[in-house]
Amino acid sequence: MRIALIAHDKKKDDMIDFVKRYKEVFKEHELVGTGTTGRLVSEIVGIKVKQFLSGPLGGDQQIGGRISEGKVDLVIFLRDPLTSQPHEPDISALLRVCDVHCVPVATNLGSAEVFLAALKKRD
Ligand code: PGA
Repeated sequence: MRIALIAHDKKKDDMIDFVKRYKEVFKEHELVGTGTTGRLVSEIVGIKVKQFLSGPLGGDQQIGGRISEGKVDLVIFLRDPLTSQPHEPDISALLRVCDVHCVPVATNLGSAEVFLAALKKRD
């Protein structure tokens, strides 16, 4: 599967821990991510992640474009619901294209756990 990883700043540590925990599962899939999330996951966890632009600079839109083209199968987007984001319209647009194309999207660790447990079982 092609999996997109995006985490807001206060959720980046959670994303890194999560990918570390499921590294064996993630290794079997193709990963893409917004700039900073992708770089941190790839450097700290030691797993290949294709990096787009940083979210506030258009990375969410780039990933949204790939979702519309059918090139992303699952999105893990750890959002920070307590901090306002300058690129809020891009975030809404990304979630919207997921719904338009029925692409599963986890917006918090709870749903991400359920998805990864399912993938682990499947692999
Ligand atoms: P980042 O973008 O990974 O480049 O920080 C995430 C976001 O805020 O959308």
